[in-house]
Amino acid sequence: MISQVLLGDMGAGKTSLVLRFVKGEFSEYQDSTIGAAFFTQVLSLNEATVKFDIWDTAGQERYHSLAPMYYRGAAAAIVVYDITSMDSFVRAKKWVREVLRQEFTSSNSSLTMFLVANKADLEAERKVRYEEGEEYAKENGLSFLETSAKTAQNVNELFYEIAKRLAKAN
Ligand code: GDP
Ligand code: MG
Repeated sequence: MISQVLLGDMGAGKTSLVLRFVKGEFSEYQDSTIGAAFFTQVLSLNEATVKFDIWDTAGQERYHSLAPMYYRGAAAAIVVYDITSMDSFVRAKKWVREVLRQEFTSSNSSLTMFLVANKADLEAERKVRYEEGEEYAKENGLSFLETSAKTAQNVNELFYEIAKRLAKAN
């Protein structure tokens, strides 16, 4: 079992990424998550099956104090921003720093973190360059992917990559 948590600004596409992965669906009218939502998915990887427990957090500031409950026990954290919003990138960097800080001060030092730049289909409205995300991820030792929950670009790849990384450890 791999427990993971999605963090990032409200509207970045966390719920949409999970629904694309778990149900193969996308909606332009995704309801905002209240508090946090829980999903599970089983994925076969070679001969092994890997069960994912996914906590999808809300992203609003008023739920911020709840976030540590979800990321403290997680094996993987996916920090999501929206390539059309510089604010969401700034907030994603805050999440990365927060998780790295708690990792440093707690026993959960084996957490794998991914930085995910979502809404890659909205190239015409892009505000955050690919290189900016990639460079920030590299500096902080994170994996980096650009995804689209809408077109499914790199969505399965993201979860398979996490499974591949962590299957050995579990
Ligand atoms: P969350 O608050 O991070 O969970 O974000 P949601 O999953 O609720 O998505 C917020 C809005 O962005 C919704 O209207 C989604 O339909 C839209 N959205 C999410 N992912 C994508 C994407 O990859 N491309 C586009 N074009 N829209 C997206
Ligand atoms: Mg949501």
